[in-house]
Amino acid sequence: MTLELTRAALPQIGQWASTDELSDLQDRQLPELLRWAARSPFYRARLGATHPSTRAEFESLAPTTKQDLRDNYPFGMLAVDRADLATYHESSGTAGSPTPSYYTERDWTDLAERYARKWIGITPADVFLVRTPYALMITGHLAQAAARLRGATVVPGDNRSLAMPYSRVVRVLHDLGVTLTWSMPTETLIWAAAARAAGHEPGRDFPALRALFVGGEPLSPARRARISEIWGVPVIEEYGSTETGSLAGECPHGRLHLWADRAIFEVYRPDTGDLVREGIGRLVVTPLYREAMPLLRYDLADDVEVSYADCPCGWHLPTVRVFGRAAFGHSVGSAKITQNRLEELVFGLPASFGVLFWRARAERDRLRVQIEVAAGHRAAATAALTAAIHVEYGVRAAVEGVEPGTLVPERVLTAVHDVVKPRSLFGADEDWGKALLYH
Ligand SMILES: [Zn+2]
Repeated sequence: MTLELTRAALPQIGQWASTDELSDLQDRQLPELLRWAARSPFYRARLGATHPSTRAEFESLAPTTKQDLRDNYPFGMLAVDRADLATYHESSGTAGSPTPSYYTERDWTDLAERYARKWIGITPADVFLVRTPYALMITGHLAQAAARLRGATVVPGDNRSLAMPYSRVVRVLHDLGVTLTWSMPTETLIWAAAARAAGHEPGRDFPALRALFVGGEPLSPARRARISEIWGVPVIEEYGSTETGSLAGECPHGRLHLWADRAIFEVYRPDTGDLVREGIGRLVVTPLYREAMPLLRYDLADDVEVSYADCPCGWHLPTVRVFGRAAFGHSVGSAKITQNRLEELVFGLPASFGVLFWRARAERDRLRVQIEVAAGHRAAATAALTAAIHVEYGVRAAVEGVEPGTLVPERVLTAVHDVVKPRSLFGADEDWGKALLYH
């Protein structure tokens, strides 16, 4: 089968009616993926003369790690001609060797389709604000490609660019009648504060808004509910990575389903060293339709729980709970404090207290917490949170209510940056200290 025919045959939800049929779908594509993989220097060396072609042979392969990607920077994983590449990316975070990822135009069809699988749908009538980075990472480009695929109007609002301070986000959301947004969950809380600083009320003055697509950061049920309540629209979670693109999205029943028609998912159990079909462990993914940089059993190093339990949506796709770094915590006495659980307590406070921002520090014998809260609710909010922490962890908590603007300063919400083009010639009355730089 040629590549082009395979592309035309990308699976679509509704084309399988059971997990057995889903598994058959994977088995049909797997030999082609294994042939693609054998074209990359990395897998050619790793697979040697073995040429795996069946599921059983595939399941005997060792996982591919993030370190393998770094060791093969920049093009050791490349399985197509350089001229066929459409984009080159690197993952965020971690200093040292970069983690490269690259895609062909055909890979991008698969990527955009997967991201666009939102139960709420993206339509030509939508105005879609992309508020994740465009530099090196895939996230902004992914949302943009998916929105373009569905005919929506994209507003590129990179959250790492000086050209797009929060005041401008609020103006765009309001004046353009933005209907859908893509960002980290924290962004939507900062927009709410910035909207209020600009004299708008989030749940009232943005009537065009239909939904907030969020990802890239753990989100507790209580924080998600609070964001939805503040904006008066559904919050839809997305899960993926720069190395793989979208891996899971929500169904109408609010459960996160893995795109198992487009990738094989396995769970690595560090305690036994086994790779299993479901349960708790690290997510291992094999994208089935990726030609530029095939990945076989790629260990994402994210803690998850995968389940094949039935969901009323009828998609017949496994569900995933993503713990991410949620399992990672800090000790106070004998209690282990995790951000997710603590976030659940903070956003469990009544909405009327207006708490959006907080920070905490695990000290040896107490948990120190600061919450931004207006003076009128300060005593009630700090007492309620102190009690909730004591019930949850049995540890002493020093909860301090601080003035709004302490953790997220007012100037961050209202600042207007002028980004100008560099120049070298100035008039006698101008400040030539501004030469060449973008300010
Ligand atoms: Zn479902």
